[in-house]
Amino acid sequence: MTSNHSPPTPRDCAPHFAIAIDGPAASGKSTLARKLAQHLGLIMVNSGAMYRAVTWKVLREHIDPRDTAAVISLLDRIQIHCGHDGIMSTITIDGTEPGDELRAPAINANVSIIAAIPEVRMHLIDLQRGYLQHASIVMEGRDIGSVVFPNTPYKIYVDAAESVRAARRVDMGEVDSIAQRDAADSHRSAAPLVVAEGAAILDNSNLSIESGVSAALEILRHQGLDTC
Ligand code: C5P
Repeated sequence: MTSNHSPPTPRDCAPHFAIAIDGPAASGKSTLARKLAQHLGLIMVNSGAMYRAVTWKVLREHIDPRDTAAVISLLDRIQIHCGHDGIMSTITIDGTEPGDELRAPAINANVSIIAAIPEVRMHLIDLQRGYLQHASIVMEGRDIGSVVFPNTPYKIYVDAAESVRAARRVDMGEVDSIAQRDAADSHRSAAPLVVAEGAAILDNSNLSIESGVSAALEILRHQGLDTC
């Protein structure tokens, strides 16, 4: 995908647009983004998978995630390819798709360290913006409405009570210190997790998946999306 340092707006990329879904770990944003993509006929892009994939490669190469210079040097040597299979985004690094390994405990424990490195973010943000050259997308992450697509009018910040989010991870059978990851993601200096300007907050602590999707569609209608 091509690199592009200035943020595209819906008009820049007409007829393509981006729906930004941000929120803390296990807030339900992936499920919501996937359902919205299905409902609206868009590509669902999981930006967290990109940070996880770089972390996967760093650990595979036995690089210390805190050795920023070594991580940046690795980035210069590897080929990251982002695409999609049906409506879901895909990622390969040097031709290999990490797949389920992206959810491993070691990735959960180290991804926020890698994601705090500005050079990593710049590299991946170019790839994230590249999707809009080809398709309209629902992209979920931490800085999609604030940094990746700040000019999109379609922004939702998904939240849920911490106890609910922790229980969801346990239900998924994952070892993941979400409070620690959220603290790191919210307090880093490069693109911290924030409620983006213009974003509507959707608390889904007590909502079924279907009710959450209905609430999100209602928000998007208010934000001017006329395809739902
Ligand atoms: O969304 P997910 O939990 O898979 O994201 C994994 C990690 O990737 C986050 O904890 C965060 O450190 C990083 N991330 C980010 N910016 C994004 C998406 C994810 O910093 N847009």
